[in-house]
Amino acid sequence: MKKKFETRAIRLQNKQSDEREHSVPIFPTSSFTFENAEQMRAVFADEETGNIYSRFTNPNCRELEIKIASLEETENAVALASGMSAIFGALMGHLKAGDHLLCSRAVFGSTYQVLKNWLPRWGIETSFVNGIETETWAAAIQSNTKMFFLETPSNPGLDIIDLEKVGDFCKANEILMVVDNCFATPYLQRPMNFGAHLVTHSATKFIDGQGRVVGGLVAGTEEYLAPVQRFLRNTGPSLSPFNAWILSKSLETLAVRMDRHSANALALATWMQELDMVKNVRYPFLASHPGSAIAKKQMSQGGGLVTFEMEGGLVAGKQFLDNLQLCSLSANLGDTRTIVTHPASTTHNRLTPEDRQKVGITDGLIRVSVGLEHVEDLKADILQSLKIIPIF
Ligand SMILES: *Cc1c(COP(=O)(O)O)cnc(C)c1O
Repeated sequence: MKKKFETRAIRLQNKQSDEREHSVPIFPTSSFTFENAEQMRAVFADEETGNIYSRFTNPNCRELEIKIASLEETENAVALASGMSAIFGALMGHLKAGDHLLCSRAVFGSTYQVLKNWLPRWGIETSFVNGIETETWAAAIQSNTKMFFLETPSNPGLDIIDLEKVGDFCKANEILMVVDNCFATPYLQRPMNFGAHLVTHSATKFIDGQGRVVGGLVAGTEEYLAPVQRFLRNTGPSLSPFNAWILSKSLETLAVRMDRHSANALALATWMQELDMVKNVRYPFLASHPGSAIAKKQMSQGGGLVTFEMEGGLVAGKQFLDNLQLCSLSANLGDTRTIVTHPASTTHNRLTPEDRQKVGITDGLIRVSVGLEHVEDLKADILQSLKIIPIF
């Protein structure tokens, strides 16, 4: 019988040396040796598996790849230097000049920039669609459409896109479905089971979970992953053995961390809904979230992100950040430490105000990446910060 998620995340180890170490060691080597010329030929010809050179992979990356493929319930995965290189690799592996893709409008800021400003330089055009208004997608399809790229829950608006509907749509139109699963992680949501061809991750976020390294992953079936592996092999955005080792260790605690992130975030969101000083508290598993029914269908818990809007907009939002004593001001998310950001002035400041409006980023929007501190301490910090804002 296939082992459970937690067990696979811990026990899928790749290597043990003659020392029989319990914890897998780090392999800091740029290249690998071969028994003889024939074995070297066979490995280069893909007839035998083996390590060649750390730009392609290494034992630490391979362990991380084996684990994430298993956790995402697919065949294989490839580790890359960052979430953005993973996304870029998935795009470049499958698209060429003259192709067109659809993308849900509410995506990570740099993903939007790649699609809007970089890919057109190589003749690849993107139509941004509203991920929630499923009935509008068909009109955006062109004869050269090859892919639907989406993010759910989205950053930072926490929109929920119906993965089952995307799966059916992509199948009917014979296009690839690529899902950025960064916010949910494979513990809470597995897009492959809804028909995704590839899943991408910024491993920098909840997969590391402790704010230490930058990394990325693409998972999928052998057929769709192979071009992404070739992209990595030839262009070189490789993950270092050290970062891969950290990320593989991190996966050992992913399940317990996501349980607590989700419990803390739900408790905090439920409590914040009752406060007069904030409005539009958003959390995928709150009944007030317009996508809560879909979220409950495709996610096992709501994840670690909560957003809300400050009464008083930009000025009050900045004062709120300045008054916080415990929560960190940082651009990251998915850390043990609670992080508060103001997307309009930071991660999404390169978008025009109109584009921000389209994806629901108002001037007063605050994003909280709820950490693993005790939730009562988080409530106390948020309350003391709100209370000393002059307008209240
Ligand atoms: C952070 C993030 C990325 C980019 O990942 P990096 O590791 O920073 O390159 C992509 N998608 C989402 C949803 C993210 O939050």
